[in-house]
Amino acid sequence: MRKVLVACRLDQAGVEMMKGAGIDVAYREDISQEEFDGIYANYDAVIVRSNVRVRPVRGRGNLRLIVRAGVGLDNIDVSGFTSLGVRVLNTPDAVTRAVAELTIGLMLCLARDIVRLSGELKLGKWSKAQAQGVELAGKTVGVIGCGRIGGEVARLAMALGMRVLVNDVVRVSQDFLEQVKGRQVDLETLLRESDFVTVHVPLNPSTRGLIGEKELKLMKRTAYLINTARGDVVREEALKRALREGWIAGAALDVFSKEPPEDVELLRHPKLLPTPHIGAQTSEAQRIAGIEAAKLVISELGTRSA
Ligand code: NAD
Repeated sequence: MRKVLVACRLDQAGVEMMKGAGIDVAYREDISQEEFDGIYANYDAVIVRSNVRVRPVRGRGNLRLIVRAGVGLDNIDVSGFTSLGVRVLNTPDAVTRAVAELTIGLMLCLARDIVRLSGELKLGKWSKAQAQGVELAGKTVGVIGCGRIGGEVARLAMALGMRVLVNDVVRVSQDFLEQVKGRQVDLETLLRESDFVTVHVPLNPSTRGLIGEKELKLMKRTAYLINTARGDVVREEALKRALREGWIAGAALDVFSKEPPEDVELLRHPKLLPTPHIGAQTSEAQRIAGIEAAKLVISELGTRSA
């Protein structure tokens, strides 16, 4: 019998699909790193999210397939496993809308200081007189990394009346730019001109630390930074200085270099709006990711074990 280790939270619809296909499913959403390293090689396939690092510490064993339910593969040693003959696949489209909507939500929260004002009211303080937000309409959003998520953010921002600038290492299609009434620019222009800078690149050696001191200093003092991509794309030490010294107006982070984050100074800074890596945490995204991951397992194990 084919055996699959689900080493993360996965929608039950996906689990049931695999069981229905005659696969023996071990569901271990709270597995520790140590235990994962000790047992992954006993399974034909594993399904993970960003919760464990997946490295070939025990070679390949029975493993033929690793499925990342979601997008980023930065926690998986893809080349190490590929050279051992293990396929590594993901479900890239499942979470696009969820992350894009969170990004717009964070922009709105920053623009109107919603979280702070709401928190104060719950403590009995009516801060109406001190509240002075800005509107998104008419402002410029700079989207760094204009793939699936960045593209969706650009579409939503355009619908809100924002001017769209995009930066990407590849040429963004003219059709898309016309659709969002946007312009592709170099990083420096984007940083100088944007009121909201939002990051949607994958984490890799070329994007690690992409937003550091130099980039933050290029931004307007009234601008906001949003990172829903990966923590290490933004240099947290530089961001702390930027917030402390007023290089930018504020920032929202859904992702951190270490999760959960331990840098209390950053986390508690009044100009920082942190969320606990919830970009993909919607029922819709989780259901689609679960079903797509199960389909990949069924089709890969089915055809390969025949
Ligand atoms: P994607 O591959 O569709 O898009 C990434 C884009 O970034 C591509 O267009 C690529 O050309 C561009 N890019 C790469 N390097 C660049 C650079 N140095 N400068 C500018 N552009 C560059 O990926 P996606 O589906 O849009 O996802 C983007 C990232 O979002 C993922 O890699 C993941 O890290 C993150 N993510 C976060 C959450 C969350 O829960 N917060 C959920 C899903 C994905």
